[in-house]
Amino acid sequence: MRLTRVARFSCGHRFWDPSLTPEENTRRFGIYASPYNHGHNYELHVTVEGDIQPTTGMVVNIRKVKEDIEREIVQVLDRKSLNDEVEPFDRVPPNLENLIRWIAERIPAPGGAKLRRLRLYEMYDFYSELDLYGEAPMLTLTRGYHFSASHRLHSPHLSDEENQALFGPCNNPHGHGHNYELEVTIGGDADPKTGMLVDIDELDAVVQREVVERYDHRNLNVELPEFQNQNPTSEMLLREIWKRLRDKVPARLVRVVLRETPRNVFEYSEENE
Ligand SMILES: [Zn+2]
Ligand SMILES: [Zn+2]
Repeated sequence: MRLTRVARFSCGHRFWDPSLTPEENTRRFGIYASPYNHGHNYELHVTVEGDIQPTTGMVVNIRKVKEDIEREIVQVLDRKSLNDEVEPFDRVPPNLENLIRWIAERIPAPGGAKLRRLRLYEMYDFYSELDLYGEAPMLTLTRGYHFSASHRLHSPHLSDEENQALFGPCNNPHGHGHNYELEVTIGGDADPKTGMLVDIDELDAVVQREVVERYDHRNLNVELPEFQNQNPTSEMLLREIWKRLRDKVPARLVRVVLRETPRNVFEYSEENE
């Protein structure tokens, strides 16, 4: 059984190493390099896992988990400038990767249960996650993108009647469209200097070029060669996206998630390979 406690806090931070020249800072932090602060409303999801205790009917006392997070994390970080007021972020870049490692070190083990997963959102579509299940914790970074495209669900392997029966209104010959939301999760080894898994600028550029520019404001059936002979379902689209990104993202591609609508969500990950 798993349970998750959510906590919120706001911090200021900057990506700037005063021991480096402005040019070196720009090389290291890209467009995020600045000697001035900016801020985020962070959201932390702490997931614990364990057996239900027969005497209490609970896995763990969630009030205690809440108090631990409040005391050890929220009160230390909330309304602070990370670079100026919180150790070790005067020396270590306060990125999502380093922040979640810092949180993992400080958060007390929940009595009678195990800390299973930490997720830290800097924005609703940008978060780091530390999976503590295996022997070595696995750190990943997830970034969101979106594009709009139209399609018609129609399989070349079925008759017109069969297509109509199977896909109903989605088989409309004039097509329809979606605002697709894509989540790209990467993992791998962190840069020893910055603690970063990936240069976000570089990741954004690859996803922009390989996915967003390719599919945004397109008719998938008519304009894309990959859907000339296959049905542009979200499953097929997501597998195409995986193939297009797998060898081009500047890190290990772990998972891609496609939201066709808020209620239809598709996921493909390295385990499916
Ligand atoms: Zn920031
Ligand atoms: Zn559709």
